Amino acid sequence: MTELAPFRLEPKFVERIWGSSDLHPWFDMHASSTPIGEVWLTGDECRVETGELSGKTLGAVFAQHSRAMLGTGAPTWAAGMSPLLLKVIFAKEKLSVQVHPDDLLAQKYGQPRGKTECWYALEAESGAEVATGLRPGTTLEDVQRGVEDGTLEDRLTILPVSKDDMIFVDAGTVHAIWPGSILLETQQNSDITYRLYDYGRPRELHVAKALEAIRLQTEAGKVEPVELLGRTILVERTYFCVEIIKVSKTRTGVSMAGNYEMALGPQAGFAYLFAAAGQGRISPLQEGAFEPFEMPARGLVAIPAVTPLWQIEDEGDLELIRITPRWPENQPEAAE
Ligand SMILES: [Zn+2]
Repeated sequence: MTELAPFRLEPKFVERIWGSSDLHPWFDMHASSTPIGEVWLTGDECRVETGELSGKTLGAVFAQHSRAMLGTGAPTWAAGMSPLLLKVIFAKEKLSVQVHPDDLLAQKYGQPRGKTECWYALEAESGAEVATGLRPGTTLEDVQRGVEDGTLEDRLTILPVSKDDMIFVDAGTVHAIWPGSILLETQQNSDITYRLYDYGRPRELHVAKALEAIRLQTEAGKVEPVELLGRTILVERTYFCVEIIKVSKTRTGVSMAGNYEMALGPQAGFAYLFAAAGQGRISPLQEGAFEPFEMPARGLVAIPAVTPLWQIEDEGDLELIRITPRWPENQPEAAE
């Protein structure tokens, strides 16, 4: 199988009415009119910035090089597109109270996959909160009444958010992101949202489908980190694993390589790398295998499953997050 070199992606800035007009110092971006709410790091339309694939969209890379990107361990239904969508969320106002369907319900309505997601707090002000799930004892009738009379918030489980918190939100969980934190969101590559309540904003609601998607009890909530040698697992569930990888400087400056299982963990294969802070440099172990490139702060690099051996150097205070897919055990046949 042809090898594909690691590559960096250009972020896509997405306007949202609840967003922020200034993303500094996180991204070099001032919004012109409508605020920016989401920075898509691995959207299908994000463009490759380095190497031979430069200029291609991520969607096109997955369509053309599916096997090299995902490797042989990926189920056939996963072929042809990025399994995960990564975003940084900048909420200046409350997002809608919403719910996402699971794979089965999404497929009932003609979409290939549902959406389970998680949020890692890159930053949080004191008092920052999110809502994840319904309070115990809440019924679907209570939810419907809350939508009608504007008291749905009273039915939600509220979580305070601190920097470095990881919050898991499985499909079926009624949830809402509120202001005060900057979140790295990892989700199934699907954008199906059923809005229940939108604080009077003129956007469409999807109450009937939301009621169908809601599970009264879910797995949602904070996840305790698991410290291992060289890495910290922030969350590992069906669909994704998010970890902090420790890149300690060695004499040569090299500390993590594509074949270094101790640092990488048992799951080699496709991965996204995100520089939460600091900067690094990606280069091949064998000179000339591909052109080395920089990984700036907030940079996103895709590591194909079939790739030349590579290494990453910490060029200053690099905080590296690795995101990898975890395939469901009962692999649904996607209705694509
Ligand atoms: Zn959501």
